[in-house]
This record gives sequence, C-alpha cells and structure tokens, in this order.
Amino acid sequence: MYNPKSLKAEEFIDHNEIMETLKYADENKDNLELIDSLLDKAAQLKGLTHREASVLLACEDEERINKMFALAEQIKKDFYGNRIVMFAPLYLSNYCVNGCVYCPYHIKNKHICRKKLTQEEIKREVIALQDMGHKRLAIEAGEDPVNNPIEYILESIKTIYSIKHKNGAIRRVNVNIAATTVENYRKLKEAGIGTYILFQETYHKESYEKLHPTGPKHNYAYHTEAMDRAMEGGIDDVGLGVLFGLELYRYEFAGLLMHAEHLEAVHGVGPHTISVPRIKRADDIDPDVFDNGISDEIFGKICALIRICVPYTGMIISTRESEEVRNKVIHYGVSQISGASKTSVGGYADEDEAENSEQFDVSDHRTLDEVVNWLMRNDYIPSFCTACYREGRTGDRFMTLCKNRQIQNCCHPNALMTLKEYLMDYASDDTKAIGEKMIEKELNNIPNEKVRQICKEHLVDIENNKRDFRF
Ligand code: SAM
Repeated sequence: MYNPKSLKAEEFIDHNEIMETLKYADENKDNLELIDSLLDKAAQLKGLTHREASVLLACEDEERINKMFALAEQIKKDFYGNRIVMFAPLYLSNYCVNGCVYCPYHIKNKHICRKKLTQEEIKREVIALQDMGHKRLAIEAGEDPVNNPIEYILESIKTIYSIKHKNGAIRRVNVNIAATTVENYRKLKEAGIGTYILFQETYHKESYEKLHPTGPKHNYAYHTEAMDRAMEGGIDDVGLGVLFGLELYRYEFAGLLMHAEHLEAVHGVGPHTISVPRIKRADDIDPDVFDNGISDEIFGKICALIRICVPYTGMIISTRESEEVRNKVIHYGVSQISGASKTSVGGYADEDEAENSEQFDVSDHRTLDEVVNWLMRNDYIPSFCTACYREGRTGDRFMTLCKNRQIQNCCHPNALMTLKEYLMDYASDDTKAIGEKMIEKELNNIPNEKVRQICKEHLVDIENNKRDFRF
C-alpha cells in the first residue's frame, strides 16, 4: 500500500510502512557498521531515506550521536553558510471552530479572550514589528470560515505589504492558516505570499482523529493532503512540521520524512522548511497531560537528523524554545529563527490589551536586538533577506541553487546588505559595533570577486541612505 507518489494520505504516509521502519530501526540500532555507512552517505549531502534516518534516530551510541551533531552543523554550513534567517509570527485572529485538544483556541475554550485584528490594528502591529527591524512575518490565524474567511486573510496580507514606516517594510509574508482549497491556495499565491506553512501536528491517523475531535481539522486526509493542493494552486514553497509531544517521536519523525519524500516524488521539490514545535503550556492547556513529551536531548537529535536527512530544507526553531535550548540547537543545522515573538492577537502594539489571547507561552523573551547580538557573537549572520521569492527563486529553482551550493554568491551578500540596513536603522550601539565588524569579515567569504565588489558598492549605498528594496 505504501506509495510515495500516491496523492492519498494513507498511501504516502502508510502506517504499516512506519511500523516496519521502526522495527527495522530497532533491529539495527546497534549495527555500528550500518550506522557508520549511513553517516558516510549523509556526509555526501544527498540526504537519507526515512528508513535510514530512523536507524540513526534509534542509535544510542554516544560517539555516533556526537558525529550526527557535527555533521548537521557542517551540512548546514555547506548549504546555507553561517546565515540565520529572522522572522516573527503575527497573530491575526484567534477565533477558531476546531476542537484541537492541545490548543487554547479550541472552540470549547470559553474564557480565552477572542480577538480578530481590524486592518487598522494590523497596521499598528506591523509598524511595531517594523520598528524592531523585522522584514519577514508568518501570519497565524485560527480556522473560522465566518470570522477569518480567506478574504480577510487576503486583505490582511495586502495591508501588511502596503505599510512603509520610516525605512521599514515587510517584504515577505509566510502564511500559517488551516488546510484549504486549491482555489484559496491560488488566491494566496496571487497575494504574493512566501511559504505556506501547515503543521501536520501528528502523522498518526488514529491519534490525529482523537486530538482533533471536532471541526474541519478532524479530517486527517484533507489536512495531510493540503500541501499537494497548495502546490496544485501554484504555491512553490511549503513548510512542514510536527507538534512534538502528541505522539511517539520516532513515529512522527518517520512520517515527517515520508511527507518530504512524497513532495519530492510528486512535485519534484521537497519542503522549503521544516518546523519542530513542541507543545507548550497555554490557557486551558497543560502540556504534561500529553504522554509523549521529548527531552531536550532527543529534541536536539531530531533537529540534527532533519538537517542530515533533508539537507536542503530550511529548519525553523521558534521562541517556544528557551534561550538555553536555542543556544544548543542553533549548532545542529537550524537556519531560521523567530525573535521577540508575541503569540497574542495584537500583542506587539499593545501588550496589555492582548494578554489573554496568547496561543502559548514563549520561552525566549529576548528582544530582537538581543537575539541578533547573540547570533553574531556565535558567528552567525542574522539575515533579514527576503529576495528569493521576489526574484522568482522559489520551489525547485531555489532548491537547485541550494543543492548546487550557489547560495554563497547570492544569499550571503544579501544577508550582509540586509544586516547593514538593520544595523543602521534599529540596532543598539553594541550590536552595531559587532555587526560592522562581522560585515567586514564576511565580505571576504563571498567567493565570486565581481559579486563581492557589487556587494561592497551596495553597502556604501546603504550607508549613504540610497536604498531600494531588492532584498
Ligand atoms: N489554525 C491553523 C491550523 O490549523 O494549522 C493555524 C495554526 S496555529 C495558529 C499554529 C500552530 O501552533 C499549530 O499548527 C500547532 O502546531 C501549534 N500549537 C497549537 N497549540 C500549541 C501549544 N499549546 N503549544 C505549542 N504549539 C501549539
């Protein structure tokens, strides 16, 4: 029944195949010869299959696990250099008709403050985000055809893109809304979105149905096949994710990789990003009632293995994770992080007003400036670049660039130029001093001399406030 090319959820995420995979992984978890050969294969940057990956996840040999961490960092550097893309979530509305048992927005929660931003309020939120220095947002909304119809989402995207405050601009809007129709995905594409993100929550069908007892999200197949509809609707870049803690992590990990393999097999391009959220405390939600929580150690291993097995994908860590955890996993292949996030509706412009509309507690409370500063102290370049999708580098065009390791001549200079903008417009004195040094040093890491020269000229333009929004 397992068929990665099938468009049916239960065939490309075949339960029996996952069970067989876990059995195979258990049988081989001490097979060091096999494990070493898999690590050698991974080092060739071609990725690993869900079966191979599951063996590495089951492996408990410390030396091999440390090799996985080192390899993940190396692969990330080979494909993406030392850039880390920055973004923030923007919650538009927490009205929701679903019954997801882990989410405070579930329909039965009568005491959470329900809120939907007006276009005027969105403007205030976006200005607050621009004033921090953000250029890339992920918009979030509950599923509610009456309160949050697609027209509302489209109007909001238009509003977000239209706001130019001081030197600020949101240049890429990624969208995390419930599974929808091909027609609606087409509309999102026309509205100029970046990535369409939808977390699977769990790949385990039986658990999925229990965890989503009511509402449209109950339909496992409709949810799991959403990325195929998104791609049919013309969206090239899709973002996968599992909500770790709901089901056995080894099951989820195999399912996630099978989903990535399916997208590659059917559409010729795998996931643009993979997110690894873990359940957090929230209004009406106690994460401890879910039995499958994972330790920080396992979490780190999962991050490293996603990088090793799907080397070309962007990997996202949100502020669900603490500074301490982010400090660790940033070295395991992460390529995008959020900073200074609020998970409440209206929380950027008015913290008090939105206090009771939060989706979950964030664990990293640092300002964007502090996160940027921290990254640079760890020798990572914070990038506010959004050029790719506006230059048509989406889907397989982006992936080809990435797989051919051409990113260093393209994204690296863009990262430096957008960092320069950030330093001039928003950074503290200390961050600015570190950043200027970093730019000077990192200019030398642009391999092509001509590109390096152009980058230098643009940096002078930015310094002289001659800006255009290329990035
Ligand atoms: N309503 C949309 C949907 O159904 O996909 C939008 C997603 S919601 C705003 C964003 C994500 O937050 C969810 O997909 C879920 O994985 C995650 N989430 C929900 N409750 C959470 C919690 N208590 N802790 C951490 N993440 C949570």
